Amino acid sequence: MNVTIRISGAVALAALLTFGLAAQQAPATPALHAKASRRLIIKNAMVIYGNAKPPYGPIDVVVQDGLISYIGSTPDTSSNAVRPSDAVIDAAGKYVMPGIVNAHMHWHEERQPGIPQPIQYERNLYLAAGVTTTREVGGDFDKSKRWQAESQAHTIISPRIFVYPFVSKGRTGSPAEIRAWIRDIKQRGADGLKIIGMDRDQLEAIMDEAHKLGLRTATHIAVEETTASDYAELGVNSIEHFYGVADAALTGIQNFPPDTSYSNEVHRFGRAGELYAQADPARLSKIIDLMVEKHVAWDPTFSIYEASRDLVRAQNQPWFRDYLHPSMEEYFKGSLDNHGSYFLGWTSTQEARWKQQYRIWMDAVREFARKGGLVTTGDDAGYIYSMYGFGISRELELHEEAGFHPLEVIEHATWNGAKLLGMEDRLGKVREGFIADLVIVNGNPIENLKLLNPNGADVMLLNGRPASNYSPLGPHDRAQPARGGGIEWTIKDGIPYHVPTLMREVKDMVARARAQRVNTTAGQP
Ligand SMILES: [Zn+2]
Repeated sequence: MNVTIRISGAVALAALLTFGLAAQQAPATPALHAKASRRLIIKNAMVIYGNAKPPYGPIDVVVQDGLISYIGSTPDTSSNAVRPSDAVIDAAGKYVMPGIVNAHMHWHEERQPGIPQPIQYERNLYLAAGVTTTREVGGDFDKSKRWQAESQAHTIISPRIFVYPFVSKGRTGSPAEIRAWIRDIKQRGADGLKIIGMDRDQLEAIMDEAHKLGLRTATHIAVEETTASDYAELGVNSIEHFYGVADAALTGIQNFPPDTSYSNEVHRFGRAGELYAQADPARLSKIIDLMVEKHVAWDPTFSIYEASRDLVRAQNQPWFRDYLHPSMEEYFKGSLDNHGSYFLGWTSTQEARWKQQYRIWMDAVREFARKGGLVTTGDDAGYIYSMYGFGISRELELHEEAGFHPLEVIEHATWNGAKLLGMEDRLGKVREGFIADLVIVNGNPIENLKLLNPNGADVMLLNGRPASNYSPLGPHDRAQPARGGGIEWTIKDGIPYHVPTLMREVKDMVARARAQRVNTTAGQP
């Protein structure tokens, strides 16, 4: 067994002039990293508010006791003036935006059975991608509740956590059993419920009980007797992925061939790529209207299915070289035993159908938003060649591909996420009085969302300085490619985390896990 890592042309990067995140000598950890201070002042920042209004600045953002206390220029004399005890981050040339809400994720301590993956690996990657809030839709409930408390107390370095456990059908799946289970999990601290694969009577029981208890609900509808019209009618808070929406717009049911087995993931994900093409456009518009009318949010998680439309891209992401943990690397290999690893003989026709599916699906999400629907961002990473953090960064790019302005995309990722969680009175915007969950970006993400990638992005240097690649060039100007961008600081509850430090730790964890794997598999055939 060897641990060969798939890379694509990444070696060429080493030859490039690099700066910022990409510096070959990892930068030293600043003293501010992971330290709470009474007051933190972010100076000279361009501010992206989160609600799609244009950026403003450069101005200063003052954080006091974990909250944004002041936005403006810091005067020489007043309660907002800089004091010697303040922590200061100079954000000249940088953009500040709200922390990202990853509305669909799972905490994993292992992907391939038998290869442990330290939980800090995932925490660091999410923070490095600017994620300050996570909505876990299904996981190990007791552990996640513990981590939620530890994150809240800042005894661990982690985004904040909302816990939506999978609704259990109990022993027989009777509505009474499901109701009892929901009452119990509410008592044990569930923040919401994740619903997957229900019959109509079960769903009625779940939604009724959830409404009585004030629990929010998210659903992965799957291909079931219930569709988005049942969920919308019964008042679910969010529909995840693509399932169920186009199903409600079919004339009859999806045209599955007779040899279909839904337990075989090649069948499941191959045929799933044919779904939207079979939907009736007028019916699709009607189900979108219903979702808007019933205030159902749509969390499409575009990035998690992307391998289905472009497998080679998914298998050759440059950051695999330094950051892909062996537990995930093994898990991603084509196998019917691992959920989401359905790439066995994946064909050009399957990719072409998925590409068509994306076009229709993205148009549907845009129509939904234009009609007033709430669109959020989630990455569902740890499956299908999607890495934590990199997945959410890619998700934002795909929202732009769907036709949204980058300011709207950032709104999906921040302010809309706060609304989804019912936190819109304190989270998701750069606003005085709001929780100081902030991201400081090297460059302007409105110009290029790729700057939010934890690995940084390709940028152009003009005479040695980052510049727009539309800049006019004189005869003596020198344009060079380089790697830049990246997030410099992710701030949660006013505590700044230095992203290059988090990524260096991730790289070390991966190197150690790979070395250990070489040792433990040495000598085996
Ligand atoms: Zn999921």
